[in-house]
Amino acid sequence: MSKASMDSIGSDRIRPSGDGRRPPINERSPQIRNPQSEIRNPSDPGPQIRNPQSAIRNPSEPLPRVRPRSEHPISRTHIDPDALKTLYRLRSSGHKAYLVGGSVRDLLLGRVPKDFDIGTDAPPQAVRRLFRNCRLIGRRFRLAHILFPEGKVIEVATFRRRPEALDPNAPELLMTSDNVFGTAREDALRRDFTINGLFYDISDFSVLDYVGGLDDLEAGLIRTIGDPEIRFREDPVRMMRAVEFASRLGFAITPDAYEAILNHRKEIVKSAPPRVTEELAQSLKGGHALPTFLLLREVGLLDVLFPELADVLRELDPEHPHGTGHLFWALLDVLDAERRRGRAYEDAVLFGLFFLPVARARVRRIAPDGDPSPGALSVLLEDLVTPIAARMALPHAIAHRIKLALSLVGRLSHRPDARVATRRLVFREAFPAALDLFELRVMATGRGEDLAREWRALSERARSARGRSAAEEPAPSPPRNRPRRRGGRGRRRPVA
Ligand code: ATP
Ligand code: MG
Repeated sequence: MSKASMDSIGSDRIRPSGDGRRPPINERSPQIRNPQSEIRNPSDPGPQIRNPQSAIRNPSEPLPRVRPRSEHPISRTHIDPDALKTLYRLRSSGHKAYLVGGSVRDLLLGRVPKDFDIGTDAPPQAVRRLFRNCRLIGRRFRLAHILFPEGKVIEVATFRRRPEALDPNAPELLMTSDNVFGTAREDALRRDFTINGLFYDISDFSVLDYVGGLDDLEAGLIRTIGDPEIRFREDPVRMMRAVEFASRLGFAITPDAYEAILNHRKEIVKSAPPRVTEELAQSLKGGHALPTFLLLREVGLLDVLFPELADVLRELDPEHPHGTGHLFWALLDVLDAERRRGRAYEDAVLFGLFFLPVARARVRRIAPDGDPSPGALSVLLEDLVTPIAARMALPHAIAHRIKLALSLVGRLSHRPDARVATRRLVFREAFPAALDLFELRVMATGRGEDLAREWRALSERARSARGRSAAEEPAPSPPRNRPRRRGGRGRRRPVA
């Protein structure tokens, strides 16, 4: 977090509340007042289409802490223009329209948000009526996707609340649905962390805080909204998210949440694997994989998710005084540096990194010289990658590519020679992934730079030569009507 951006968040000023009532005070937000968005102009005809549930305001419902535009750094020039258009249209139709979630957090921190999500009291059908370019998705809780050119999607979600009051002593708290409409406050309370529960109100450009998120942003804290023991059991993926946000933002996890992760880490296996994998992908792509995985190991989530990797990270590496783990951490470190420089990697490379240290340790067991036979290597990779990829719900195509790439990485440790077989290697389907993995390993270990250069040069030469010869080749002749010979062209007679 940049110091300047945190300073510019500043502290709240108390503004007189619209109705002259003294606002209720609660312990986390002592300066609570009536947000301007709640003060309705008497000439304002009010909303035409409203969600009946959210229209009923509970008079005892606490009001948010409001940080006016003059006291926060969010400028409309930092907000996606299509998100702004969407906010204005909802607002001018009489609805509440807030920027919600990660975008408010990131804008307050002076970071560039990944996406701009919108929360509103307009029910999904009303949103659809307002936007021609709108598609409703989801069967139970319908989200509105507003579609813009070049595939841009702005997600508009009607405020909703947590399903029902939960008994912390219930044996099973895992949430299976999240589809009850609610008020803005309820929508803030259902979110995971206080820093993710802030709203930016387009009606007066203020930031609304129902959950203490402003204080936590300033303090650099990842705090669950509500009791972490309950919130992590309801949705164990939140444990991964806590680790991810702490690592991404350089924040600390509050002691109660940290303790709750230690207590409930094993429950991560109850979560849908694609969600867990998505969180891992986010950190691998986000340039903060090293701190994320170090923290996943520290809290014991790595042991639950990837016992194979966690075991290898504890083993001693005969080649390296710091243990096999050193290679894995060094790989993540160089990956982060490359990602921050904007280099893109395919998924087979990103997830291939999990397997590289384990594959290396197992190869050493079957072939101490590091060169197993191709057959033995392929069995080893099959045994290693297939079950883990299935557990992670990685698509088959990616799992297949990881195996192919890992089986090639070892070959790249040998200098390329002039043989045809060597030239053919660079046209193998997984060669680009293997070369990326090899280059990351070279950067991580500082060994083999010349080999990486030679393989990269060979691959570029061979590919451009193939491109030239394809351009010079006559156009393919039209297909023949004659039936193909049985056995096809692939079957060759042995040379006598
Ligand atoms: P990112 O920058 O990675 O997109 P984000 O905070 O926007 O971070 P999203 O996954 O896009 O994360 O989710 C958007 C918002 O939805 C979050 O900010 C949070 O308020 C809420 N949210 C997401 N996942 C959960 C969850 N598992 N439990 C409760 N609230 C969640
Ligand atoms: Mg987001």
